[in-house]
Amino acid sequence: ASKYETGDSKKTVLDSGYSDDAGNERATFLILCRDEDVYELLETVQNLEDRFNSKYNYDYTFLNNVPFSKDFIYLLASHIPSGTLNFGSVAESHWQYPSFINQTQAQIVRQNSAHFPYGDSESYRHMCRYFSGFFYKHPFLQQYQYYWRVEPGVKFYCDVNYDVFKFMNSHGRKYGFVLSLFDYRDTLPTLWDHVKDFMVEKGITNPPLIDLVKNNNVYESYNLCHFWSNFEIADLSIFRNEEYEELFQYLDGKGGFYYERWGDAPIHTMAMSLFLQKHDLHWFNDIGYYHAPYLQCPQESATFLKNRCSCNPDDDFSYDDLSCTSHFLDIMGNA
Ligand code: GDP
Ligand code: MN
Repeated sequence: ASKYETGDSKKTVLDSGYSDDAGNERATFLILCRDEDVYELLETVQNLEDRFNSKYNYDYTFLNNVPFSKDFIYLLASHIPSGTLNFGSVAESHWQYPSFINQTQAQIVRQNSAHFPYGDSESYRHMCRYFSGFFYKHPFLQQYQYYWRVEPGVKFYCDVNYDVFKFMNSHGRKYGFVLSLFDYRDTLPTLWDHVKDFMVEKGITNPPLIDLVKNNNVYESYNLCHFWSNFEIADLSIFRNEEYEELFQYLDGKGGFYYERWGDAPIHTMAMSLFLQKHDLHWFNDIGYYHAPYLQCPQESATFLKNRCSCNPDDDFSYDDLSCTSHFLDIMGNA
């Protein structure tokens, strides 16, 4: 029974309050979540509308591995004043074990992996694999060039007074991030070896961004650096191409999404390091952002004031020892 539905629960395409200022890029927010996330999500969406999207009216795309309830759709549709809202389900074949995975072995791995985050979770592994190799193939995303990934519960602490998608386009950026960090090695013990093998197989030598992820000059190990993928503003073309697809298929075939616990963040970062150039990357250091337990809070007081930030700059994570952003800046500085 619906608590909220009063009329048309399929009110998924609303009149767009188009203004002179409205964003003109083919772009959408991308939110994978479950029905029970709805109240946390309403807070996040309200925050995002207030800080950014009430000026630009970009679309939202909500995805779920099962169909959303009518209440979920109704609540989001009532709270978001403009733009198109897409509510979609993930294809079953994009959220299940591929045939070559031995599910008994995968289960044994989970039972022995409670010592790292989500080590014992099956659904988390499907989710990470989905964000690594499938989300950009969803029919709803075909109409878009850019996405901004958002999760229920994240917070935005500053006004974003410019169209971030237009920025990406006019500056030719392909991948934007806010926070970065060093991963748990236990989640991906063999990933680096497979990436190295892939490079040899494909004849990829010394890509310009490889120093982002490698520990030293002889390709010895992965330094665990990755862009935190709960926030991404990116050009979908970085995934929709043959070389990314080959990398995904190659790694997927090694079974590490299930026999280890590879996250989509390190997979994305590996791909960026193999296939992108320095000028394709952008650190949105002017965006105040929190995803537990880490905060990005602008350090420049001019930015802080102009964008009416409401976070504590002293709690910023960007220059913490566990953050990879200083390393990123070093790499970029050598451009
Ligand atoms: P964390 O950020 O690594 O702690 O992982 P989260 O639990 O936040 O999951 C990442 C994203 O995937 C969030 O947007 C979640 O809402 C979503 N998510 C994770 N697992 C599932 C799932 O089983 N089903 C659905 N529909 N969404 C999921
Ligand atoms: Mn999260």
